[in-house]
Amino acid sequence: MSYLQHLECSKCGKKYQADKPQTFCKKCNAPLIAVYDYEKIKEVFSKDALKGRRADMWRYSEFLPIEDEKNVVSLGEGFTPIHKLELDIGVKNLYVKDDGIIPTGTFKARGMSMAISKAKELGIERIAMPSAGNAAGAAATYGARAGIETFVVMPADAPFTCKLESYMAGAKVYLVKGLISDAGKIVSEGISKFGWFDISTMKEPYRLEGKKTMGLEVAEQFNWELPDIILYPTGGGTGLIGMWKAFKELREIGAIGDEFPRMVSVQSEGCAPIVKAFREGKRESEFWQNANTLAAGIRVPKAFADFMILDAIYESGGSAVAVSDEEIIESSNELAKQGLFVCPEGASTLAALKKLIESGEVDKDEKVLLYNTGSGIKYTDVYSENVKLDLPVISSVDEIKI
Ligand SMILES: *Cc1c(COP(=O)(O)O)cnc(C)c1O
Ligand SMILES: [Zn+2]
Repeated sequence: MSYLQHLECSKCGKKYQADKPQTFCKKCNAPLIAVYDYEKIKEVFSKDALKGRRADMWRYSEFLPIEDEKNVVSLGEGFTPIHKLELDIGVKNLYVKDDGIIPTGTFKARGMSMAISKAKELGIERIAMPSAGNAAGAAATYGARAGIETFVVMPADAPFTCKLESYMAGAKVYLVKGLISDAGKIVSEGISKFGWFDISTMKEPYRLEGKKTMGLEVAEQFNWELPDIILYPTGGGTGLIGMWKAFKELREIGAIGDEFPRMVSVQSEGCAPIVKAFREGKRESEFWQNANTLAAGIRVPKAFADFMILDAIYESGGSAVAVSDEEIIESSNELAKQGLFVCPEGASTLAALKKLIESGEVDKDEKVLLYNTGSGIKYTDVYSENVKLDLPVISSVDEIKI
């Protein structure tokens, strides 16, 4: 059973029943947020009780919205490792949390595992969404496990692996010559035309609950002492908003204190609506024209929940940083040499950190966490276009000079 109480509009606060399918507040055009009975959670939850639980995101059952465990659609996602990095860039306590080893190769699995479990619980048979690529792959995969028909629309130039895995998992896959925003328009029309259930980023309330586990894990894995700064590659923002929600819920039940990390949103110079809004001190972003970056997951011209991303950044005393595609490739090379073949989005956080160190916004003694959202293995097409592979072809060992 779950301690979920109801859903609440992030703008007007209107309550929505959680025991039937809900999307977003149509009046405010804003996300719905899951609210739990925190008094009850406080009574039943203890840090010690976590010991010996399943080593995936479902270990935090008290904070999750699924009523009946039999509806859980899981492939073992979450509880990913945190590695210390020994990079000579000016901070001593540098860590990376690696969601590259999750099923489907990106952290989108967290959100989809949760949303599709809840969809199953609510008897939903058909789901649809636009995706930059990785969300489609995860929706297709978990949809297949749940036996839920899945429609995905993504840019024609989405990473090849995302298209392939979605197709092979049996989803109905459509490509558009455009961006995730163009895919979104088609999905919206399909929703009214075919009665699809919309699981678009932040228009469905439970993907956020899946992403929230990132924050729960960060807290537990750092022994309830949060990092000083978290750098996060931001597209639709679910991960950042999710971690922020996790920290607030943990504080609410007394598991952590008031010291929250500064949340840093990292985007690409070719698509940086949040960075621009932050620089201008705005609470909402504007649609970014001609979005272009090799980091497909953060090629999101306008996030539906942009105001929530910005709220978390401002409230935490954080920041927003844009980096170039060249800097992203350089940083992925550096991380690969640390044993982490990460996605371009993940690599962007290292590129951004270097800028923050340079501008004095990060102190050398601070505990810094880079969030790697996915594996480089999903981006072999993108990397092969940007990394010059100049490998010698040999026919004899004599040609090897050491
Ligand atoms: C979707 C995606 C992101 C951005 O995630 P949001 O939570 O939507 O901001 C970052 N990295 C990768 C690999 C992604 O697929
Ligand atoms: Zn509302």
